[in-house]
Amino acid sequence: MRQITQNYVDGAFQPVSDGEEAPLFNPATEEQIGTVRLSNVNDVNAAVAAAKRAFTRISGTPPAERAEMLRRLSVAVSVNGDRMAETMREEYGAPSSFVDFSARRAGSVFLDMAATLESFAWQRRIGSAEVEMRPIGVAAAITPWNSNYGFICGKLATAIAAGTSIVIKPSEMSALQTQVLTEALHKAGLPAGVLNIVNGSGAVAGAALTAHPDIAKISFTGSTVTGRAILQSAAETMKRVTLELGGKGAQIILDDADLEAAVAQVLASGFINSGQACIAGTRVLVPARLMPEVRDRLVAGLADWPVGPASDPASRIGPMVSRKQWERVQSYIRLGTQEGATIIAGGEVRPAGLDRGWFVRPTLFADVDNATRIAREEIFGPVLCVISYDNDEDAVRIANDADYGLQNFVLGGDPERTWRVAARLESGRVTINGAAHEPLAPFGGCKQSGIGREFGVFGLETFLEPQVVLT
Ligand code: NDP
Repeated sequence: MRQITQNYVDGAFQPVSDGEEAPLFNPATEEQIGTVRLSNVNDVNAAVAAAKRAFTRISGTPPAERAEMLRRLSVAVSVNGDRMAETMREEYGAPSSFVDFSARRAGSVFLDMAATLESFAWQRRIGSAEVEMRPIGVAAAITPWNSNYGFICGKLATAIAAGTSIVIKPSEMSALQTQVLTEALHKAGLPAGVLNIVNGSGAVAGAALTAHPDIAKISFTGSTVTGRAILQSAAETMKRVTLELGGKGAQIILDDADLEAAVAQVLASGFINSGQACIAGTRVLVPARLMPEVRDRLVAGLADWPVGPASDPASRIGPMVSRKQWERVQSYIRLGTQEGATIIAGGEVRPAGLDRGWFVRPTLFADVDNATRIAREEIFGPVLCVISYDNDEDAVRIANDADYGLQNFVLGGDPERTWRVAARLESGRVTINGAAHEPLAPFGGCKQSGIGREFGVFGLETFLEPQVVLT
């Protein structure tokens, strides 16, 4: 049983004041594997004070020096990849493909940001004005449990590139992963106070950060409900806010798609990270005349998506992170039936042979009405809604009839037609025929999927303020 009792403040591990502890679990066995001590407001204030002191120094460093810091961070994280992956398997339970991707990406995100920083236009002439992009002030990041390393490293990389110090509050459910990552980040030897990490609950530590007058910017990833609360709290002191929230992406299968490839892609995009992903394409839009064939192919395709613990390299869907998330997913599966949808695969029963652990059977709902809750709300598990449409116009209408707008998908044969459909979708990203992720492109959503963009130049600018000098 491991006990996490320290925060990382002012360049050192420091004890959290006596306070409440939260249990940490292995979601594949439901066994408690540790505890984390939760910070109170004083702990948060100490971290913000350290970051404020460090801001004076980091904001004055030349970009080349910060690029060098980013490269050191990349090395420090990369050499610890195996340990990070092992801890993520134990505490989060994701399948190997996602764990390996996360551990690799945590190191490479610093190099991507170093490249962005080195080619960034810090000074710009606009007419008679000299415009200088300046660091925004002390930043705070609040991150969730579904990709702990990636969110922490992405937000930290952007802060360093911009020349700001940062206080990060990760999810308390990821405390072991945070500890391993922080030990790695410490080895990069950043100036004291540039990076501070506080363990704590959202209600106490998160809320203290969003209300703190010395924080100029909040970068948050998580639920839309919490995003809304953060936006309201941040408004008091006019903090700049980047919110990366939920999604309910549509995957439009056009009638000229190669169905074998399209169905494989639909399952991959729907079940990414065991369905615990804001970018998952959880509404599958199918031409009415192809529905019987696509339904059969989807059900058959589930054979390629075994559920199991991270320790089994064959498993492609892991447990839900917590009992709360498991119960939430189960309740949506129940709700779908009550709302009149038909379960064509999966359901509420636990997967065969997995009596312990927060495992869910991958579930396909057919005959889904896009107005029902299972089609509108983020379920955050391996549950897909299959929805029928009449023609391209109808597909676009249904895809856009959503409160969210993070990532949509188009699968089709004719490139011009897929582009035409993609151009009409209301989302921050559209992926055509399973195209690969581009790490330097802006990432974020429209509508209730959030505000602002992360990564690359667009992400960097959200940590900066333009200052105009007129001569
Ligand atoms: P939350 O949005 O509540 O949690 C995300 C982070 O915000 C955590 O660090 C949490 O702290 C913190 N937080 C919670 N309340 C506050 C607050 N008032 N002020 C500041 N910070 C706060 O997500 P949940 O874990 O409750 O998951 C619920 C649902 O959210 C999921 O089912 C999914 O739909 C969605 N979600 C979306 C994610 C995404 O990638 N966009 C990621 C995670 C969840 P702590 O938990 O430690 O208390």
